[in-house]
Formats: sequence, C-alpha cells, structure tokens
Amino acid sequence: MGDRFDVIVIGAGLAGLRAATDLLTQGVSVVVLEARDRVGGRVYSHRFTDGQTAERGAEFIDGNHTEVLALASQLGLALTERSAELDPQATLVDAGGRAVPMYLHASLAHDQQRWDAALAGLQPTDEFEAGTLADLLGPLGLSVMSRLVIGREIRTEYMLPPEAVGQRFAAEVLANQVPALRERHRVAGGNDQLAAGLAARLGPVVRLSTVVRSLEAATSEVTLADGSTLRAGAIVAAVPLPVLSRLWAGLPPELGAIGYGVGGKISVQFSRRIWRDYSRNGTVLSDRSWGHLWETSDDQGGDAGVLTNLLASYDGAGFVALPEATDRVVAEIERLFPGAKGLAGERVLTDWTNEPYSLGAYSCFGPGQWGAAQHALHAPHGRMWLAGEHADGFSGFMEGALRSGARAAASVLAGG
Ligand code: FAD
Repeated sequence: MGDRFDVIVIGAGLAGLRAATDLLTQGVSVVVLEARDRVGGRVYSHRFTDGQTAERGAEFIDGNHTEVLALASQLGLALTERSAELDPQATLVDAGGRAVPMYLHASLAHDQQRWDAALAGLQPTDEFEAGTLADLLGPLGLSVMSRLVIGREIRTEYMLPPEAVGQRFAAEVLANQVPALRERHRVAGGNDQLAAGLAARLGPVVRLSTVVRSLEAATSEVTLADGSTLRAGAIVAAVPLPVLSRLWAGLPPELGAIGYGVGGKISVQFSRRIWRDYSRNGTVLSDRSWGHLWETSDDQGGDAGVLTNLLASYDGAGFVALPEATDRVVAEIERLFPGAKGLAGERVLTDWTNEPYSLGAYSCFGPGQWGAAQHALHAPHGRMWLAGEHADGFSGFMEGALRSGARAAASVLAGG
C-alpha cells in the first residue's frame, strides 16, 4: 500500500475511534482500519420505518458513565431518561410455562436482599480471585424461584452463567456501579450516533471494509485480507479479544484465557404495546433458554412498541443461532401476551457470537483471570498497545471502550 502513518488503529468501535481522535488531536498521523462497512462495532442501532429504534448491541448508559455522557454532550446528542428498577407488579417471572407477576413470589424480595448483601461483601482484591458467583450463591440456600431470577440477572449482566463469573471481576464491575444510576439513559434516535459522530470528525482517516488478517507487534506491521501490508510507528489494537487471538500469533496466554460472554438479541416491533393492556411493562424473566425480555421503546413515543429479547449465555447463544429463532420468540411473546402475534411487525436478530468481527458479546473474567491479565492488558507489546472494553475497569460497557481508547492513546504518546 505504501502509506506511512505514525499509528495504525485496528477497529472503529468506540475504543478505536476514541484512541484515533485523541492521537489526531495531538498531531499524530493515524489510520483506522475497520473490517465492517460501518463504524461502531458492538454499538449498532436499528431504525424501524416509523422512526422507533432498537439497539442490537449496547443499549443502556448509566448515569455515572461520564465519558459516554460527555461524548453525547459534545456531539449534541439528546439522551432519554428511564428507570431500571424492576417493578414487581408489572414484571413477569415465567417458570414452568406459567408467567406471574414478580410480587407473587413471596421469597424473592427477601432473597434478593440477601444476594445484594453477599455481593456487597465482594472486594476488588486478590482474596476474591479464586471464587465464582456460583460459589457465592450456593451457600445462601435461596428458594428455587430466587435462584431462577438471580441466575437470569447474572446471565443478563455477564452473558455467562454464575459459575463462569469470577468474584474479583464482579467486584470490579460493582465498584463502578451506582445502583440508583444504573441503565438510566439511551441516546435518543440510536446509540450508534456516538460512533458516527466520532467517525465524522475523523473523516477519511477511517477506512471501512478493510479487514486486518494478521499483525506483528514487534515491528508494528499489519497485513490486510488482500495481502497488502501497512507499517507504522505503533499499533493500537482495538478489536474484541477473541478476534485479536486470531490476528496475533503472539497473544499472551493470560489474554487468550479471558472469558467472553455469548449470545445475541432479537427485537420485535408491535403495532401496539399490547403488554400494557395486561398491566405489564414488557419485562419478563424466564427459565426458558430465551431468557429475558424488556420494552426497548419505554422511552420512545408512538403507538408502536418494541420488545427486545436478550438471549444470554450458552443456552441463549444456542437459541439465537437457530434458523427459526425469531418465530419462536414471537410465539413465546404470544404465550405471555395473547394477541401479540397479530400485531408483530419487523423483527431484527443479531447473533454476536457468530459475528466474525465480534465472536462474542463482551469480556467476562472468570476465576483467576482478572489479576493474571492486568499487566498484559495495559503494558505495551513491542510497538503495540491494546484498547477495547476488555482493557478497562468498566469492561463490558461503552464507557470502558472509550476509557480504554483514551488510555491507549495516552500510552502511545508517552511511549512513542
Ligand atoms: P467493538 O465495538 O467490538 O469494536 C471493535 C471493532 O473492530 C469493530 O468495529 C469490528 O468490526 C472491528 N474489527 C474486528 N475485527 C477486525 C479486523 N480483523 N480488521 C479490522 N477491524 C476489525 N454496553 C453498554 O455500555 N451498555 C449496554 O447496555 C450494553 N449492552 C450490550 C449488549 C450486547 C448484546 C452486547 C454485545 C454489548 C453490550 N454492551 C453494552 C457492550 C458494548 O457494546 C461494548 O463494551 C463496546 O461497544 C465495545 O467497544 P469496543 O470498541 O471495545 O469494541
């Protein structure tokens, strides 16, 4: 290709776009190589014909996600407001083929308090490296129904089951959460405007449909799918870890070991919000493999409404990969809210595990993996630095992606 740059950024998700922005601002010449024909990566909004939106990936913004909020403000994007509180009257628990409002399960509120207390005891210290959330849950002796609901909440949060989530990692995640500020916002009109706004400022620096096939950290050389090579003073690798492991033969084993959530989402638009006829809010926690349903349009106007089904963890990942997955979800929604099927319109399915440029949902560190990986996540590898949600304490969130991009850019500038 013959081009020379100071820095090659691989990936135009929020992490790569933020790194490139910070580098360019400091006068560094940069190119962003993006495999897909769009920017944003796991931030990917769908627009229905009437203007309603659904998020195929990242959906919620916490009130303490300061980098995301600052970016939205810089770009002049409006945020919607919502409450993430589970309303026990309006939320359904679907178990054994029978769905009833949450409040009818008497054990839940008490058991949830005990679980919250157990979580509050976790600290982001080495002492908690070895245990999993299953180890924490088991001894509490919670009711069957509480284990169903809490197990589902864990799968929704981490996209893996309790036995795959390290206590140290959970402590890191919780340390960055303020319960009252959880999942308070979405970007009005679609979260992908965050990425589009950054990319618009970068202009031709971002090269879409440019697939990186392999990289050499020591020489900061990148080989593209068409066989051409690019070399720079440094690389910022801002791709998901399962993807990085395929590009970089020298990936340290402690990075290759990091767990990754699996699954996807199916959103269905209904011409009317029929669940409200039943005095429900559309949120359902189920023991079935489709798992967790909620109304994505709770902060949007219009007669129509969108239900989003998060298919999390191994059983969810298996479900979303089935050819008839959307029809099955509509059938389940009909079972829960009779009459819904006749109102169902456009459906959109995203199987993140089988998306070749994601290969999963987001990082979820298992026992022993957090402490083991921190050095390799933050140290330079030859002339290469890592960015991406996995490389930040806010891992699994857009906030983590932006922070990691800023940190990688600062490290390149400091070390370059
Ligand atoms: P990515 O967005 O994955 O960006 C990596 C980029 O690299 C992609 O654009 C990809 O196409 C590109 N790439 C990959 N391979 C190559 C290659 N070989 N060559 C060139 N380019 C390549 N976050 C929240 O804050 N709130 C939420 O509610 C939330 N919910 C989520 C729900 C789901 C189902 C999923 C999947 C994610 C969710 N997230 C949420 C997480 C959030 O989406 C991610 O943390 C964040 O978007 C990751 O950004 P990134 O830049 O690290 O990676």
